[in-house]
Amino acid sequence: MGAVRICETAGCDKEARLQCPTCIKLGVEGSFFCTQDCFKGSWNDHKGVHKKAKQKNNPQSSLDSDYHPWPGYVFSGLLKPFPVSPMRKVPESIPRPDYADHEEGYPTSERESRGSSTIIQLPEEDQELLRLACKLGREVLDVAAKAAAVGVTTEEIDTLVHEACIERECYPSPLNYYNFPKSCCTSVNEVICHGIPDARPLKDGDILNVDITTYHRGFHGDLNETLFVGNVDEKSRKLVTVTHECLSKAIDSVKPGVRYREIGDIIQRHAQSHGFSVVRSYCGHGIHRLFHTAPSVPHYAKNKAVGVMKPGHAFTIEPMISEGTWRDQTWPDNWTAVTQDGKRSAQFEHTLLVTDVGCDILTQRRERDGQPWFMDDLN
Ligand SMILES: [Zn+2]
Ligand SMILES: [Zn+2]
Repeated sequence: MGAVRICETAGCDKEARLQCPTCIKLGVEGSFFCTQDCFKGSWNDHKGVHKKAKQKNNPQSSLDSDYHPWPGYVFSGLLKPFPVSPMRKVPESIPRPDYADHEEGYPTSERESRGSSTIIQLPEEDQELLRLACKLGREVLDVAAKAAAVGVTTEEIDTLVHEACIERECYPSPLNYYNFPKSCCTSVNEVICHGIPDARPLKDGDILNVDITTYHRGFHGDLNETLFVGNVDEKSRKLVTVTHECLSKAIDSVKPGVRYREIGDIIQRHAQSHGFSVVRSYCGHGIHRLFHTAPSVPHYAKNKAVGVMKPGHAFTIEPMISEGTWRDQTWPDNWTAVTQDGKRSAQFEHTLLVTDVGCDILTQRRERDGQPWFMDDLN
């Protein structure tokens, strides 16, 4: 106290006793002016101080206000897009699927078999290669799960995923698939699936789904988990827990002779009993040399899926369960699927191989009896 302050206005050296009220609120030191007039006259320069302080206090909100790629688009929830960095490259030495080098990212082989509902029974050698691709996919997901934390951006997770794939001689299957720009999908809160990793730092209380697919020696292995970021509230814990139960119950039913359309009945019954809804626009899929192929495996009840399970069939089950409406909409990036009411949605996915008596969960976690990562965080 008692020190003489000088007015901040350039060229004014009068004694100053008025402190900028916004700076007081933001915790900025200094910012004294001699008179209201001097303060007003300096406003255009001075307000930059507030912007800087806000950015320092909350990097998120400042970015929120700076990046508006789709003027006029009405977001269903609080989540907003952040800048996406340029596409990464995979060394030419790693074998890649046909779409990797296609201008529009078209999976030519997949499109040739589209419309066919024939489900192939993989011979023994192919089953072994699929197992290997899935094991490597699991390792990559574990890398991502360990990295997810408050303040980490989804792009940083994508970078780790990309590098973990390369270390294992895998091509990250999402990269350039129909021109998808990143090596994995990161779906936060109300994002149902296909979120694009970007510069948004994860916030305390977020739920984050990371979807990994690895392509190794001609086969794809696909899995995803929803993770907790910091302290997640009770409601979201419930959503994530029930979603995982939906997948587990569905997997328990898998064996030769079961119709693919029965999976959805099991999932919807369980989701509904907890007041949640089942997303209808995205389904599980056959997977082997092709990323997405027959069968199509809807997760909702009373669906018309074609096919009966046989030994050697490989497919995913990947229920997306929402707190509110099951209806989805897609951001103008043409990828990010969000709930229409902006409420949260969770997902889990495994790649399964039908055996003579049941199925093998090829993407099962190797530690903790296969328990998903979010359970490590539950008490
Ligand atoms: Zn999948
Ligand atoms: Zn997936």
